[in-house]
Amino acid sequence: MLDTKWIREHADEVQAAADRKHIKLSVKELLERDAVRRTLLTELEQLRQNRNRLSEEVHLSIRQGRQAAATALRQEIADNKIRLQEAEISFNQADAEYKRLLLLVPNIVSEDTPEGTSDADNVTVRQWGQPPIFPFQPHDHVELGRMLGILDMERGVKVAGSRHYYLKGDGFRLQRAVQQLALDVLERKGFEMLEVPLMVGQDAMVNTGFFPLGEDQTYKVGGEERWLVGTSEVPLIGYFSGDVVDLSAGPIKAASASVCFRSEVGSAGRDTTGLYRVHQFSKVEQVVLCRGDERISEQLLQEITANAEEILQLLELPYRVMAVCAGDMSQKTYKQYDIETWMPSRSSYGETHSSSNLRDFQARRANIRYRDADGSLRYCHTLNNTAVAAPRILIPLLENHQQEDGSVYIPKALRPYMGGREVLLPPE
Ligand code: AMP
Repeated sequence: MLDTKWIREHADEVQAAADRKHIKLSVKELLERDAVRRTLLTELEQLRQNRNRLSEEVHLSIRQGRQAAATALRQEIADNKIRLQEAEISFNQADAEYKRLLLLVPNIVSEDTPEGTSDADNVTVRQWGQPPIFPFQPHDHVELGRMLGILDMERGVKVAGSRHYYLKGDGFRLQRAVQQLALDVLERKGFEMLEVPLMVGQDAMVNTGFFPLGEDQTYKVGGEERWLVGTSEVPLIGYFSGDVVDLSAGPIKAASASVCFRSEVGSAGRDTTGLYRVHQFSKVEQVVLCRGDERISEQLLQEITANAEEILQLLELPYRVMAVCAGDMSQKTYKQYDIETWMPSRSSYGETHSSSNLRDFQARRANIRYRDADGSLRYCHTLNNTAVAAPRILIPLLENHQQEDGSVYIPKALRPYMGGREVLLPPE
């Protein structure tokens, strides 16, 4: 959330960001509501002062034996009380409406963010590896999973409904292996690993910018004011909420491997087969908190993007890095790269990672600050990126590494996590 004073001074820039991100918000209306709310607050404070003054005066009148004056003052107190109650109602209504609009204010967008309205306008920044050319008719990951006996979509649907799956045997191992590989890469780079709560309160969702606009993407736990997280970014950032963090030794780097739940409302009819878009998946997430310095957070954005690329290179998968356009960005994002990995069954690259610099947007909402060299408290910048998300990563992993005999090549870096095996073989 941006500062109201700052919003007032940069109203055009904030409105442009809202328009570019397809967020229905009138900054003019927000500022008008703020002005109304401030006027009502002044009135309210005036009435409270009146109340205090009148009650002091009534006590004085009684002490001095001026009964008539005391009676008149009591009437004034009663009138003031009614006006105070009315003013409180008006202020609370105006304040709630102002706060509702304030939560819709988007982060502004970096100058080097491409123009555009959807992911079709994202721009390729770099590419690594070459899509394979198969000298045989390749299979998609669902066929490969079935042939290898490691994936069962039908039973997932039978038990839990659409967009659910079972991974079995080597499928289970593979999903764990890619995650452990990613965690080991991050641990070597100084990330601290956290096991995190997956059911969180509303504040954690609001503070990280997932509520109110993304609320329909979440599952609420029945009968409770708690929601299942769609990413461990929520509890990882939530961990630091309200804190003055110590950044004297450099940025805080935290990671988690967690299950993620997404309702995928609005995705009806999209990616309906296979493992691309499911309701429950596992993700290793990188989260970074740093000083509120744009040069530092930009450098860290490059760093966490490079971490994900390193993991993809270890998995020997061709990918490209895309600069995400404003129209494809969420409310909270200042600058974003997506990494798309080659998926032969789609004959295209498909998004597997999302790397974002949020500047101080989340830190303001979550009140995460640090002490600057001059002793003043400042909001941090926060960043996040996928390290690996499975089962989506199994799509390129199975499809790119398939061989003519129906086996699947296991990349060298993954073998220690797969019992040293070099290939996945179909059952005899
Ligand atoms: P996001 O947190 O939305 O930026 O997504 C990060 C990564 O999580 C994506 O690039 C995907 O690899 C994965 N992901 C997101 N949503 C889904 C989903 N519904 N099903 C499977 N994987 C997903």
